[in-house]
Amino acid sequence: MSTGSTAQGAAGELRSYLERIAPALHREWPDRTSFEARLAWQRALHEGGWAAPHWPVADGGRGLGVVDRLECDAELARAGAPDIAGVFGIKNVGPTISAFGTVEQRASLPRILATEEIWCQGFSEPGAGSDLASLRTRAVRDGDTFVINGQKVWTSDGTRATHCMVLVRTEPDAPAHKGISVLLVPLGTPGIERRPLRQMTGEHGFAELFFTDVRVPASALLGPVHEGWRVTMTTLGHERAGVVELAASLERNVRDAVAEFPDGVSDPVLRRELARRYVEARTVGLMGSRVLRSLGEGREPGPEQSVIKLGWSLTTQRLGETLLDAAGPSGLAGGRNGDGAEAQRYLRVRASTIAAGTTEVMKNILAERVLGLPKK
Ligand SMILES: Cc1cc2nc3c(=O)[nH]c(=O)nc-3n(C[C@H](O)[C@H](O)[C@H](O)COP(=O)(O)OP(=O)(O)OC[C@H]3O[C@@H](n4cnc5c(N)ncnc54)[C@H](O)[C@@H]3O)c2cc1C
Repeated sequence: MSTGSTAQGAAGELRSYLERIAPALHREWPDRTSFEARLAWQRALHEGGWAAPHWPVADGGRGLGVVDRLECDAELARAGAPDIAGVFGIKNVGPTISAFGTVEQRASLPRILATEEIWCQGFSEPGAGSDLASLRTRAVRDGDTFVINGQKVWTSDGTRATHCMVLVRTEPDAPAHKGISVLLVPLGTPGIERRPLRQMTGEHGFAELFFTDVRVPASALLGPVHEGWRVTMTTLGHERAGVVELAASLERNVRDAVAEFPDGVSDPVLRRELARRYVEARTVGLMGSRVLRSLGEGREPGPEQSVIKLGWSLTTQRLGETLLDAAGPSGLAGGRNGDGAEAQRYLRVRASTIAAGTTEVMKNILAERVLGLPKK
């Protein structure tokens, strides 16, 4: 594995690497969306030191800044690379372990890169989604262990993950945002039951996780006890930065969508709709690039991240609708290429206005923290 490339030539270096590895990967994994395909791509990227180029060099990354990261994302998209398999470990959990982890916990970092550990985030519960601080899953200290009881829901990759970053309440009488702790839990631990949740796309990536008298060593605690909210804010900060990165790539998504029409777009209604999507994507993308640059300069993220999440999720949904319309009546069945891509895309992006903060919650932040309107 080679790491430590100069940031300047990173995208070019990645392009050369992809030119070498992509043809064989596409031959072996023509579907690209299966978990196995995503594992194979991550392993191949890891071989060249490209699984997490934004991670610090000391953690096995290349220490790339924002601009280079976006250029690398563009190279991956150009090469037709799917999302990597361990997306939550690499984007959110790994950087949190890097920030708060003990030496023992940091040993997970190379395993995350190599797909030996696949992580998920056990935050939401049936009664705690937007209002995450009302979570009720309990962990009680018993000698050298914590005993966990409770339930998590909407755990992305929960059916396939090997490990979960679990938010638990360790001090039930403390105010909502206090008394929460983070535990790093191997999902093979006795007492954990996972139940897959089938989505309308037909996929089973989500799970409900049930914890019954699950014992983990006290060394599973990430960060200080009862201060898990602060640890979680770091994870959610990375998650939000990931959404801003998606926003910065939106314009490319519209261009790619237009390129899928081999003879160009002649229908005037469709041309107008695609032009609208392009303008929306460019506006959101410019805002996203500006925020990423300021995050890269070490400034604190502000409410503008929520505005971008709002803009990205609405635009990406509208793009899904436009492309389904463009496919015509066959769109709901096979679509233009017979693979159902338009319908799948339409269904998948419905979730974008819920995941990582719902539209209503984003609008509240916009109203209160940007426009200064009074709280309800
Ligand atoms: C694709 C996807 C992936 C996800 N992955 C994960 C994961 O990996 N791990 C994890 O822990 N969770 C995950 N989630 C869960 C996600 O974080 C929650 O769905 C989200 O926070 C909303 O919580 P909820 O579903 O409980 O809805 P609720 O919070 O109950 O909201 C229900 C409705 O009420 C509205 N609402 C709530 N509060 C307010 C308010 N104050 N003002 C106005 N309206 C309000 C909401 O906008 C929504 O329309 C995922 C969700 C999706 C869709």
